Amino acid sequence: MGFVVAIDGPAGSGKGTITKLVAEKRNLVSIDTGAMYRCVALDCLNNGIDVEDAKGIERILDKIQIELKKIDGEQKVFLNGKDVSKEIREPRVDEVVAKFAAVKQIRDKVTPMQREMGKTQNIIMEGRDIGTVVFPNADVKIFLDCSIEERANRRYKQNLEKGIQMTYEEVLENIKERNRLETERDIAPFVKPEDAITVDSTNMSIDEVVEEVLKIVDEKLHN
Ligand code: C5P
Repeated sequence: MGFVVAIDGPAGSGKGTITKLVAEKRNLVSIDTGAMYRCVALDCLNNGIDVEDAKGIERILDKIQIELKKIDGEQKVFLNGKDVSKEIREPRVDEVVAKFAAVKQIRDKVTPMQREMGKTQNIIMEGRDIGTVVFPNADVKIFLDCSIEERANRRYKQNLEKGIQMTYEEVLENIKERNRLETERDIAPFVKPEDAITVDSTNMSIDEVVEEVLKIVDEKLHN
């Protein structure tokens, strides 16, 4: 096993940004597990497969290939050989991803893929169930928290930059609904790992959060 840092937190808590920066500073491979669930949801959407369609989902999972690659310093996501880094962030995927991520069949396929990634390299992996289910023995477990209003605010601003048209209220509703689905689902529900260290980013700058996380990581790396 490599050295594993698990970062769990809700949508918009800044996990993606923090994970990438910490990875660069400590030479860890950063893995965005949400992107993997987004790929499955996108593949199903593009093939007209509904969340209830167990047979259709099975067909998708049988041949799905998800690759997370760093190209010219940028993290890219490939679904069946195609770069879908932008597509997986579209509102149509936001709307359905939490429903697909609650399907056991899908988690049973994606979780082992994630475990495999931690076998041979030192990683920092972000998601909802990394410290509880994927790597319960992770070297470091961090729970990145943030108020729901601030999370919606951040996503709203990110969307504006990307040219995605959504009102603040729509973003807030989407985040609330996803949160409800993620915390109430039967398999791998989103909960704080008991032994995780909480970092609340609500009133912190990106630099401050990175510094805090590095402190926690370094304590383990050097012991
Ligand atoms: O992190 P992000 O918002 O991109 O994740 C997309 C969706 O994937 C989440 O809404 C959640 O439903 C699901 N997810 C999950 N388990 C993970 C990571 C993400 O269920 N480890």
